[in-house]
Amino acid sequence: MQLATLIYGTGSVGPFASRAFIPAFITAMMMRFTPEYISWVSDDMAGTAAEAPSWFTSDIALIIFGVLAVLEIVATKSPDVRAVFREVDPYIKPLVAVITYMGVVATHDVGFIEQATQQAGWSDTFPALLVGVGTFWLGTLRGGLLGIFIDTDEDDDVGVQGLFSWAEDIWGSFGIVLLLVFPIAMLVILAIVAGILVLIQRRAQAKEQRSKIDCAGCGEKIYGAATRCFSCKSPNPQPCSVSFMGRSLDEPAADTVNHPYKLVEKKRCPVCATRFEKRSIHQTCAACGHELFKDPAFAQAYLTRSDTRLPVVLVVSALFSLVPVIGLVPGVIYYRMTLIAPLRRYIPRTRTLLLRWGVRILFFFLIMFQWVPVAGGLVVPIMALVNYTAYRSTFRAMLECEVKDG
Ligand SMILES: [Zn+2]
Ligand SMILES: [Zn+2]
Repeated sequence: MQLATLIYGTGSVGPFASRAFIPAFITAMMMRFTPEYISWVSDDMAGTAAEAPSWFTSDIALIIFGVLAVLEIVATKSPDVRAVFREVDPYIKPLVAVITYMGVVATHDVGFIEQATQQAGWSDTFPALLVGVGTFWLGTLRGGLLGIFIDTDEDDDVGVQGLFSWAEDIWGSFGIVLLLVFPIAMLVILAIVAGILVLIQRRAQAKEQRSKIDCAGCGEKIYGAATRCFSCKSPNPQPCSVSFMGRSLDEPAADTVNHPYKLVEKKRCPVCATRFEKRSIHQTCAACGHELFKDPAFAQAYLTRSDTRLPVVLVVSALFSLVPVIGLVPGVIYYRMTLIAPLRRYIPRTRTLLLRWGVRILFFFLIMFQWVPVAGGLVVPIMALVNYTAYRSTFRAMLECEVKDG
């Protein structure tokens, strides 16, 4: 076990918690082509690395890592794919981190692998284990924090997740370069970043707990925004209102009649305010057993409430749209959050795949005219109206066909 590779392994936990194949690819590329920048790689190895590549820096390995890194960049830009990868990604990242660590060891110290296979001792397997467990821990922490954003804005209407994704590409690539060239500096940065993440997580957990209140009937901790207790069904005399992003606020809900609809708009149970997990219209609340949209009157009122928002949204998006170029992005975010999200949250992505691509092509042509003064004011309202009509009819069709089935 060498100190230099151990430091590399510890530091690699940072970039690998964000991306699997980007740091693997960059590590292999640098070990192969620019080993002179890696201070801790011995001089004799620097000369021979390019001539006699190990399995890790071989042409085939570089091609595989390269292809997977490109796929990773593309895949992490789509909310659909991100949601799928959230399940497997805590296992892929530690695995690739360990493979990369073993690769670095093999390239750095050619005798190591032979030695290790003959007399694999604790000191040889321990660093690899440390890399795997460390990546898993940091990756889980990151996933939990990202989950908070995904819960509040599943389709990334605001675009925060998209920005994060680019930031993580940069961290996954430049972080590993920094680690290879200045290992100690990277360790310090990693300790700071991990510390900040732990603090944010603690704060988020404490905030969630603080927003809960004791049920008057049975004493269970219930969400402040709940209309009834999930367990004994006692009513909550004063439910608190929910924010634009669906979080519980300190102030009481002004309109208790419409409060259940507001909860459903934010994808929370109209009874106990627990978040719904699935993208489906008819589903059962995991906490209180409430069956969503089972009551046709509730479903109808939900759609009517949605329709009454339309005129205001069209006027406001026209105002955004009147501002050439700059008004486009906030205008689109605005109508998607206020008008589309309450319906789209319950529609499976597969059902809208064709629709979304058709609409994208139409919007591409529309957006080209948005810079035109005055006439450009029509672009965002048309986009809002087309989108709303499409999602509303899909929502209606699902509501009716699933009612017939049940
Ligand atoms: Zn209760
Ligand atoms: Zn519930």
